[in-house]
Amino acid sequence: MFLAEPPRTPYDFSFNVLGVPVRVHPYFWLAGVFLGMGDSNGFIMVIWVVALFVSILIHELGHALMMRRFGETPRIVLYMMGGLAIADSNAWNIGSSKAARSSTKQIMISAAGPAAGFIFAALILLLIGATGGVVEFSGAAFPFFWNFELAQPVTSDTLYWYALVQSLLYINIFWGLVNLLPVYPLDGGQISRELCMAQFPDGVVKSLWISVWAGAAVAFYGLTRMQSIFIPLMFGMLAYSSYQTLQQYSGGGGFRGGPWRGGRRPW
Ligand SMILES: [Zn+2]
Repeated sequence: MFLAEPPRTPYDFSFNVLGVPVRVHPYFWLAGVFLGMGDSNGFIMVIWVVALFVSILIHELGHALMMRRFGETPRIVLYMMGGLAIADSNAWNIGSSKAARSSTKQIMISAAGPAAGFIFAALILLLIGATGGVVEFSGAAFPFFWNFELAQPVTSDTLYWYALVQSLLYINIFWGLVNLLPVYPLDGGQISRELCMAQFPDGVVKSLWISVWAGAAVAFYGLTRMQSIFIPLMFGMLAYSSYQTLQQYSGGGGFRGGPWRGGRRPW
């Protein structure tokens, strides 16, 4: 469901960053507003969407710049619930960038997205400290492992800065970790697949089973411990779609590589 590149629309917003073409599909903004809907204050919502845009762009840039390091020509599409970093193939390298991507390359490309977010979050935390604020870490308020105070106390004037920093940290740290879970088609699912394929002849099948069980476990955890609707819904769906892919594998004689191959991933 995340994997196909959406068609172009008249409302696409296109630009280049660090030489990588970026296209933002209108559904990106729509999904962003939907995700931030808990906030009643309209301006906080705008801040949330801006934080989401910046963070997902940085994440995809992590993938894209790593692809470029390996000689590929990446572009980025921001779409519902995330983005895609796609390596374009042309007449001269059809299949070469994707099918011939080694395991190590694929793992590095997959890990580079969350890593870019973690680095960005670390820079924000350093900046908070450098400007006279305070940062503390504790697991008490999961999923927030951090606590921060800016140099200026919370007032109606500084509230928006707090909202911006908290949104950026939340997306770059928490979503980055979620993205590393071994569930298809998250980055962690791609990594798990490569590791399993390097270890076992039926590695793809093993990684799909891991995806089914890990997805189900996260859905259960979200439902019972986090009182979240979104997480169980999303991970329940991902577990189910991994299960469906498994059925295809056992039924269809195994199409090595399968639909998940190819440099397309959701965040
Ligand atoms: Zn990613």
